[in-house]
Amino acid sequence: MRVQFERFYAYEELEQTLATWAGTFSALCQVESIGRSFEGREIPLVTVTNLGSGAASEKPAMLVHAQIHAAEFTGTTAALNLLDWLLHGYGEDERITHVLDTRAFYVIPRVNPDGPEAVLADGRWRRSSLRPYPREEPEDGLHREDVDGDGRVLMMRMRDRNGHWKAHPDDSRLLIARRADDVDGEFFRVFPEGAIKNWDGVNVKIAPVFEGLDLNRNWPADWAPEGEQAGAGPYPGSEPETRALIQAIVDRPNIAGYLGYHTFSGVHLRPYSARSDDDYPTADLRAYQLMGEEATRLTGYPAISIFHDFKYHPKQVIRGGDIDWLYDFLGVFAWVTEFWSPQRAAGLSGYHAIDWIRDHPPEDDLALLKLADELGEGYVDWYPFEHPQLGPVELGGWDLVRFWFNPPFSRLEEELRPHRDFALFLALTSPLLDVRSFESSAVGDGAYRLRLVLENTGWLPTSVTQKAIERMAVRPIEVSLELPEGARVASGKEREEIGQLEGRAEERSLLWWGLDHSTSDRAQVEWVVEASAGTRIGVVARHERAGTVRAELVV
Ligand SMILES: [Zn+2]
Repeated sequence: MRVQFERFYAYEELEQTLATWAGTFSALCQVESIGRSFEGREIPLVTVTNLGSGAASEKPAMLVHAQIHAAEFTGTTAALNLLDWLLHGYGEDERITHVLDTRAFYVIPRVNPDGPEAVLADGRWRRSSLRPYPREEPEDGLHREDVDGDGRVLMMRMRDRNGHWKAHPDDSRLLIARRADDVDGEFFRVFPEGAIKNWDGVNVKIAPVFEGLDLNRNWPADWAPEGEQAGAGPYPGSEPETRALIQAIVDRPNIAGYLGYHTFSGVHLRPYSARSDDDYPTADLRAYQLMGEEATRLTGYPAISIFHDFKYHPKQVIRGGDIDWLYDFLGVFAWVTEFWSPQRAAGLSGYHAIDWIRDHPPEDDLALLKLADELGEGYVDWYPFEHPQLGPVELGGWDLVRFWFNPPFSRLEEELRPHRDFALFLALTSPLLDVRSFESSAVGDGAYRLRLVLENTGWLPTSVTQKAIERMAVRPIEVSLELPEGARVASGKEREEIGQLEGRAEERSLLWWGLDHSTSDRAQVEWVVEASAGTRIGVVARHERAGTVRAELVV
């Protein structure tokens, strides 16, 4: 079974796909549930690694999750595409084989399984999960709804002499803002397609969304209540889906990298959401920037800070997001991928991802309409409909779910392809503990000196970040000797903590003499043991984020 690009995954097909892969690739892949959603659906987590070279928990891991937001189906397809590529590529592709021999992936293809089912059922865009919030009953006003039952929720326009919109002179499908000196002509008022609860016959107000939660504002970092951050929920981690994901992360201290799949904008996002880059430890910002450069090289998407380049409002910061918690509390480099930029696909460039949505010239809309025409979907020409409350209206405009929040199916595979390589690259940035040598020499009557040399062969330091050290979020390397009956340690500690090892991430230009080109990626531990000749002695070195390694020798 291969990943499908010509439809959105419903929950049932997603479950069947994962079960089939777990059965087919039993040496590489395991599926478990991390909890249940608001409506009681299991939230599956897929572990992918070569089980023959060690358990996932003993390897550095990359966590990838998708579709925490209900309409962002592309994320689930991207997560499945990554799984498909890793599973089918093992033993065929050298890089995939290497990464699965040495690292693990935890993939949660759909964090929020309820929201997408509802969107598939009625075509209505929803932000996130389905629990009514902050009110239990829908409020008065216009609620988005598929009023003509065609499976899409578009826009409604009606002729109105005081309307704010008029047809574009070159393409009457497109509505543009009416100017102050537009006094004559045909004007339109525009509402979302929907029905009005308790209408007074005159005023139309857009009702607040009934399912008002946003699971990606419900995290315990910079969390703020509803009045300051819409969708945040009553307290951090209040929602079952968020809580399940938080617990899954805490239960897996080997997570050394993190990537959330979203749509849209065609960008890679990194923390902070609410603070300037000046607040980073220098080494962490540098590593983030280098990862971002590689992301852009692979995918063509710019890599940007949410605070500096992705705020929805110039005076408001985003609160309670997952990657801020991952970086600022756990000290793990965490990324968001926002797949798909319709603007870039339409040939626009040099625009600001967020500001553009608020305000852009009509020529941009014409370019986007041209793209929709070429693709054969995305924009619906206005057609008459007799609205039960408003009378004659026209339905039409952008199909949010099919054009903006997801690439059209014909573009999906091509859009997702380079992102597999970025996930693999991120996995390979992790630290990786290895044994350089483990040797013994006789020092007299039944006594042996043992020397273990460990090294970090990964790119990042074993702590992953400076922030992890600051937050005390990571433990040092622990080394334990394993002595059989009759052998004993005469000098040294049977269990020893040896701190952290550096990686290569700080190395820049060979000419820069401010760098430490020492063997700070290496450490040794020595013991004197008393044992009879021929005794087998083992050693285990463990680090939460850099993996567990073993060695043995015979004295
Ligand atoms: Zn999203």
